[in-house]
Amino acid sequence: MAFEPDWREKELSLKEVAEKYPDFPKLIALKIDASRRGIKYTDRALAAVDPDFHHVEPRSVITDSGTKGANSVPLGVTLRDGTLICQGDKVITKHTRREPYTLDIVDGRPVLIDLGEEIEGVEFWEKPLFYDKVTSNGTPMREVASARPQRICVIPQPVCEFWKHRCGCKYCSIFSDNMGLDAVKRSEAYFQDVYETVEEALKQKGRYASFMMTSGTALGGEELLDDEVDAYIQTLQAAGKAIGAQKFTVKLVGTAFSEKQLRRLYDNTGITTYTTDLEVLNKDLFEWICPGKAKYIGYDEWKNRLYTAVGIFGKGNVNTGFVGGVETAQPHGFKSEEEALTSTLAEAEEIGAHGVSFAETVWNANPRSVFYDQREPSLEYCVRLAQGLADIRRKNGIGIYTDDYRRCGNHPNTDLARID
Ligand code: SF4
Repeated sequence: MAFEPDWREKELSLKEVAEKYPDFPKLIALKIDASRRGIKYTDRALAAVDPDFHHVEPRSVITDSGTKGANSVPLGVTLRDGTLICQGDKVITKHTRREPYTLDIVDGRPVLIDLGEEIEGVEFWEKPLFYDKVTSNGTPMREVASARPQRICVIPQPVCEFWKHRCGCKYCSIFSDNMGLDAVKRSEAYFQDVYETVEEALKQKGRYASFMMTSGTALGGEELLDDEVDAYIQTLQAAGKAIGAQKFTVKLVGTAFSEKQLRRLYDNTGITTYTTDLEVLNKDLFEWICPGKAKYIGYDEWKNRLYTAVGIFGKGNVNTGFVGGVETAQPHGFKSEEEALTSTLAEAEEIGAHGVSFAETVWNANPRSVFYDQREPSLEYCVRLAQGLADIRRKNGIGIYTDDYRRCGNHPNTDLARID
């Protein structure tokens, strides 16, 4: 399948969606559309990015680039209300279905453009100041941690062992450079690097509102996943030493751990919230799309572990992430958007009633994933999904503190928390 020249005739545009759903914030609808379709930088826009001042990463870090070792590009941009769009410079392949937005420079400022029309000005993210520093072990701090405008991020385990067993998630390209490798055993020197990097990052006053940590799945250990839990505990202890608080704002996105492992995490670190991603809110589709998660833990057990986590971390402190729209992947996904929405929100109702909230990302078929040639759903679908999830969260009185736009900024449904 390739580019669909008539795709605009098949779905509502951003303007039409805004007219049909006037209560839905237009800038969040734009974020969703740009996340779904991607952003293509012009040469002029790339030339306006100043690596000494703006946050750039090698293209290989940006998961849809596929151009390892090429020049560095921004990870995302900010809209005028603080909404983030976590999209770099899109790589267009023969399987790209819709044109991305264009990011160009107009009157000296970066602007998103569609069909030749200026849609909205954006700002490039500023470079974290710790990016120029080196730890006492000689490690560049930018290799120890990354950042968004509002949070610092550490990945102690940049390998997902599901790929070693050929059962990674079909939409995923994270850590694909390390595909097939074993999980890494981190040394004391690494945790010293984490401590020094977090300590240095905090010298940039007012920038970081949370500490984020995630990894690929590490299956090993005495109990399945113990190695992953150990890596998080040691990393959080190192970060906590720098932060100097008994508990601090942590967003951890990990695999679904057992009760014993969750208690170990909670009792031995400053962790405050826990996120473990079901990825798709449907058991049959979970088994197709996330075969590793299905094989080693299973959909029902994943949900049970989320509910157990609520008992440990408290209501409002446990989330499940999912890839909004992947439920329409073919051939096994829902054929109609209406059916997909009804089913997904019904499952979300059940999960939300247990005190779990949602961190939804917008599916953008990644050229390096198994689903490289799939078709993402319409903007209208994504807007209705985000609104439905926000409504379920509110109805159940669940907070979303570490995943809102001030501390994370990636999820349309939690961006809506600003109007709670
Ligand atoms: S668990 Fe799935 S989504 Fe997460 S890194 Fe592994 S393959 Fe990717």
